[in-house]
Amino acid sequence: MLLLNPGPVTLSERVRRSLTRPDLCHRESEFFDLQDEARARLLAVHGLDPVRWAPVLLTGSGTAAVEAMIAALVPADGRLLVVENGVYGERIATIAKQYGIAHETVRRDWMEALDIAAVAARLDAGPAFTHVAVIHHETTTGRLNDIAALGALCAERGVRLLVDGVSSFGAEAIDFDDDGLVAVAAAANKCLHGVPGAAFVIVRRDALASASGRGFYLDLARLAGLQDRRDTPFTPAVHAYYALVEALREHADEGGRAARHARYAALAGQVRGGLAGLGIESAVPAAESSVVLRAYRLPTGLAYADLHDGLKSRGFVIYAGQGGLSGSLFRISTMGDIDTTDIDRLLKGFTELVTR
Ligand SMILES: *Cc1c(COP(=O)(O)O)cnc(C)c1O
Repeated sequence: MLLLNPGPVTLSERVRRSLTRPDLCHRESEFFDLQDEARARLLAVHGLDPVRWAPVLLTGSGTAAVEAMIAALVPADGRLLVVENGVYGERIATIAKQYGIAHETVRRDWMEALDIAAVAARLDAGPAFTHVAVIHHETTTGRLNDIAALGALCAERGVRLLVDGVSSFGAEAIDFDDDGLVAVAAAANKCLHGVPGAAFVIVRRDALASASGRGFYLDLARLAGLQDRRDTPFTPAVHAYYALVEALREHADEGGRAARHARYAALAGQVRGGLAGLGIESAVPAAESSVVLRAYRLPTGLAYADLHDGLKSRGFVIYAGQGGLSGSLFRISTMGDIDTTDIDRLLKGFTELVTR
């Protein structure tokens, strides 16, 4: 079965084999070697300086990393502006509410691009915001949000930008030199091709100094301090760390972030071209979409369940639209160990189901 859902992804044999490495106690030096390698390789994906940036590992899914970032980095007297145009942006506002963090939202329809001018107007209207949170790749629709424009806006105003990069880190470009950007949350099992269970936040060290102390398990400043000293407070998902390290080695061996982007772009282009030939339209223009996942309009007369089941019986798992989009869209991710011959077979399956 090939997984074309937005994580977990189809594993390479190399990563799958890493899961059967020797049993490991997380208080032994071998575990800390593994933790150190994971942290160093996460920074290396974007060539980041460990003096300025702390990679903080967590055990949990991507949401754990996003929650840790929001809870820990907005200080007790901070104010957060959440920029939303999909499910994951709305999730950040829910997290802020849950923690009692003072926040407001700038909301766009799920099919729309961010309105940067509206964000600027909201920041300028006050009362003063200390942080802005945004989703880089909004997996709801496959839209790639313009975090560079938001980062510039934040830098001008001395506001700190927190980015959910769960479905973009490792493939899409992220400008860490941007002065507004202070943290990116992500996970092992999307563009990096590891398994679920390991997540991380890459955070500017000076932002950790003013961390809130909200949260216990997810206390980023404490985790960073312990991990810097080759320590860990809790039992990590050791096997997920094995897979993360092997996936990061494979990512580097294959040419790093830019090469992964190019590979996804080719596969996503192949899917888009093939589906267009069958009259299936992209929901978001290619130029505004990520290369990681794209949303397509369900052809009239074909119910999602029939499309899904027909493709599943041919060896592919695709993904439904979320919430109100479930009746009109479906999504196809090109993450994981898949290649052009897999996409050829997928398109053959679509042809059989659509022209039946
Ligand atoms: C997948 C994803 C998450 C995290 O989802 P989990 O189910 O916790 O792994 C968060 N944000 C975005 C944009 C995602 O695509």
